[in-house]
Amino acid sequence: MRNRIYLSPPHMGGEEIDYVKEAFETNWVAPLGPHVEAFERECAAYAGTKAALALSSGTAAVWLASDLMNIRRNDVFFCSSLTFVATLAPLVQRGAVPAFIDSEPESWNMSPQALREAFDDARETGVMPRAVIIVNLYGQACDMDNILPICAEYGVPIIEDAAESMGALYKGVRTGSFGKFSFYSFNGNKIITTSGGGVLLSDDEESIGRARFLSAQARDRAPWYQHSEIGYNFRMSNVLAGIGLAQLKLLPQRIAARKTVFEKYREAFSGAPGISFMPEPEWSASNHWLTAITIDPLKAGVANMRLMEALESENIESRPIWKPMHLQPVFEGMKYYPHEGRDVGRELFENGLCLPSGSNLTEDDQAFVIKTISRLLR
Ligand SMILES: *Cc1c(COP(=O)(O)O)cnc(C)c1O
Repeated sequence: MRNRIYLSPPHMGGEEIDYVKEAFETNWVAPLGPHVEAFERECAAYAGTKAALALSSGTAAVWLASDLMNIRRNDVFFCSSLTFVATLAPLVQRGAVPAFIDSEPESWNMSPQALREAFDDARETGVMPRAVIIVNLYGQACDMDNILPICAEYGVPIIEDAAESMGALYKGVRTGSFGKFSFYSFNGNKIITTSGGGVLLSDDEESIGRARFLSAQARDRAPWYQHSEIGYNFRMSNVLAGIGLAQLKLLPQRIAARKTVFEKYREAFSGAPGISFMPEPEWSASNHWLTAITIDPLKAGVANMRLMEALESENIESRPIWKPMHLQPVFEGMKYYPHEGRDVGRELFENGLCLPSGSNLTEDDQAFVIKTISRLLR
């Protein structure tokens, strides 16, 4: 049996270990330290935001953003339905109530039309959302120019989930800079990794300062441990920030490599009946974190799950498109706004598949993936 081919494994460059060693040699193994400070500076510079806060996960960034926005029990928020649950889990745990917005077929991200309908509804019922969460799926930006003005019109702040989209552009501007609060994830499967981690980004330096306070147990300025509020333990460790510093230098290469992987798949399957790729509108420059396809079973002669099984039997990892939140058992009965009467999220989920897309996927391994898929296609 061949070695397993993973969907999106970590890809170390070599220098990471030098930063980790430096942390050990200077005994900055304890949380915080110079690597964390440098990593925050570089993340803010990269995203083009005024401030950044390095955290133990992307999910922690959502917790802090919802805390800073003072999102509370029974508050309503709008959220892109086609995503990973971490996008909204912290708000739900705070007792807030989601209303889900469908995707548009052009970008697979939040449909501006469906968002408009949700706001029309909110105006009629008088229940305005406290936040809108947009998600840049699989490394592609949302249609910002058609989404941001709707939110601005109603004065509702945006949380931008850029967990998957570090390095992706919207009309030449880096994602991670479009929300009142935005965040990247450095989980092991993302385009760069700190093994686990995230960063909260914003131009609001005061809010990031408060998030800094909250993320380290909300200690008052006092010589003893004194608390006037309850916080979290969410900070990134100095050891892991060192990994991040080395990975950050490699990001342009990582994006280029993922794009090459995507292009090879496209070349291989562009003529295949029933196979389509996640579209890339002209305003988008994706980081191609994952290559995602949809399969029309009637034209292709095979369904997505059958393809996934066939890949698995060759020890190749693939994964269906995210199951939309409005189809999740835990969110049964929640409001959902379809795109022009269509359930685009469901269509993508039912027909989609993410292919092995690592920046360290070898040519040989990718050729094997392509051959395995080709065998099943009509
Ligand atoms: C990975 C991911 C997150 C969560 O990030 P963690 O660092 O794993 O907590 C949130 N949203 C999306 C869309 C993700 O892919």
